[in-house]
Amino acid sequence: NGRTPYPVDCDGLRFSFEYFPPKNDEMETQLFQTVTALSVFAPAFVTVTYGAGGSTKARSLTTVKRMIGEMEIANTAAHLTCVGAPKAEVDAVIDEFLACGVRHFVALRGDPQGGIGSVYEPFPGGYENAAALVKALRARGDFEISVSAYPEKHPESPDVAADIDMLKRKVDNGATRALTQFFFDNDDFERYLERVRRAGIAIPIVPGILPINNLTQVQKFAGLCGARVPESIVSRLGPIDDQPEERFREAAHIAAEQVADLVRRGVSDFHLYTMNRPQLITAVCELMGYDPEIAPAQPADTERSVRAVARA
Ligand code: FAD
Repeated sequence: NGRTPYPVDCDGLRFSFEYFPPKNDEMETQLFQTVTALSVFAPAFVTVTYGAGGSTKARSLTTVKRMIGEMEIANTAAHLTCVGAPKAEVDAVIDEFLACGVRHFVALRGDPQGGIGSVYEPFPGGYENAAALVKALRARGDFEISVSAYPEKHPESPDVAADIDMLKRKVDNGATRALTQFFFDNDDFERYLERVRRAGIAIPIVPGILPINNLTQVQKFAGLCGARVPESIVSRLGPIDDQPEERFREAAHIAAEQVADLVRRGVSDFHLYTMNRPQLITAVCELMGYDPEIAPAQPADTERSVRAVARA
């Protein structure tokens, strides 16, 4: 369409942004600056994660409350996990989210309490998995319920078929959309999507896109999540790891190329993992053809990042 460096029509794309609850005042300021900066891209919705084992329950609630109540971001979705808590406790959290105006949940099981890699045990008297949580949420009302999906298979799953079976159970119980774990090889996503559709699952499967701010960290995290960082990416980012501007520019292009390729394959909705920072996400959105002229003032660091990419 002439506005993007990629030969693909990016009009009509819908982006959603994922944030995590801040741990301290400084991170809180950073988060809300980021949310404000990225609001210029009119995200379809934004989501706020729920800490491992429910550890950030209070912070998730406060963050969601502020985003809906003070910042008037009505389309804020609350992640919610059911690990390590009895049903009554999860239900009470649902009540609190509903009271602050939440009308979209991202319903998850959560990682085992010992962390990723340890064995998951359903909590006695708790919701045993995400499908059970979806069912409980659906019984509460007619809101949107997003769930997780794993193009490269969840590490606990014996195989892809078991994974898709779990997705089907979540959909049968009322899930309306799936957001995927991040992945970097679009062939993995396309293969997964074909299998999901063959299984009769019709809800939107929205690819999760993680622009790589820090290669080493992403490689480590990807290893834990069962995601693969392809050699083609490592060889582009590895050699410039100590050159922040180059690395930033390359990371933005890698993510934008991934999005553009998915657009070519027919995808229009994308869930972006922001890591609570605006720079890379802004750069990716702009590379995809959003017009910064229509954007209100942004924090200085965002503008700098945009110019860095524009110079590429
Ligand atoms: P489920 O959908 O219940 O299961 C996931 C897969 O694991 C299933 O497909 C199934 O095949 C397999 N599986 C599950 N149980 C078993 C079993 N007993 N035996 C064998 N296989 C099994 N975590 C957080 O703590 N907070 C968040 O806010 C959060 N947000 C996320 C958002 C997205 C988009 C994604 C993709 C993940 C998120 N996670 C979050 C991580 C998630 O909690 C973990 O991946 C967790 O291990 C699984 O939760 P789930 O809802 O995907 O589980």
